[in-house]
Amino acid sequence: MAEYVIIPPPQAALAVQGSDKLFPVRRIWCVGRNYIEHIREMGQDERAPPFFFAKPADAVVPDGSVVPYPSLTKDMHHEVELVVALKSGGINIKPEKANDCIWGYGVGIDLTRRDLQIASRDVKRPWEVGKAFDASAPCGPLAPASKIGHPTKGRIALKVNGTVKQEGDLEQMIWNIPETIWKLSEMVELAAGDIIMTGTPAGVGALVPGDKVECEVAGVGSLNISIGPRRG
Ligand code: MN
Repeated sequence: MAEYVIIPPPQAALAVQGSDKLFPVRRIWCVGRNYIEHIREMGQDERAPPFFFAKPADAVVPDGSVVPYPSLTKDMHHEVELVVALKSGGINIKPEKANDCIWGYGVGIDLTRRDLQIASRDVKRPWEVGKAFDASAPCGPLAPASKIGHPTKGRIALKVNGTVKQEGDLEQMIWNIPETIWKLSEMVELAAGDIIMTGTPAGVGALVPGDKVECEVAGVGSLNISIGPRRG
């Protein structure tokens, strides 16, 4: 086998609850607009189908991290989301087969430079500047589906400095997890190591340096981060 001309970058990975083992991350997919109250607060069409965007795999940061406040923005938002981690994939995965592809679940935040996302959207440019920046995907330790099953309801919530900002229930998802896997697998081939951030309930808002952020999904787990000084 040929040698690399530089040292290969480290494998992005997520922690696993109750284990020293890691879950290797291949790709991060995100679902846009999957809870009705969040669509309303963003002023978007409630009847449009959901759509997908991506973050780089190395955007994951573990529980307990200090996340640097990113460059360029004046309006970084929190979006708490249920994270689905795949152990297998394929194309055109039917909803009734989708749960067979799931290794486990976690709690994540789709950090968003909202000002840059909206500016990009308004001039029909890509969303990467708003969504795919460094450390934009904090994610707590995964719980295996073999232990917790496949959650379809349960409270999803986020607090900033002890005050509840986002609160919803997994059963409010417009497209459920099997349907999301099905639609995404029509667009790309999914594979082991892919994770999906499944959309956020209402209550998104700005974070500033020094904020302490606590997230939980009932029956799945938790994620705690704080926001560090501005980078760059
Ligand atoms: Mn999101």
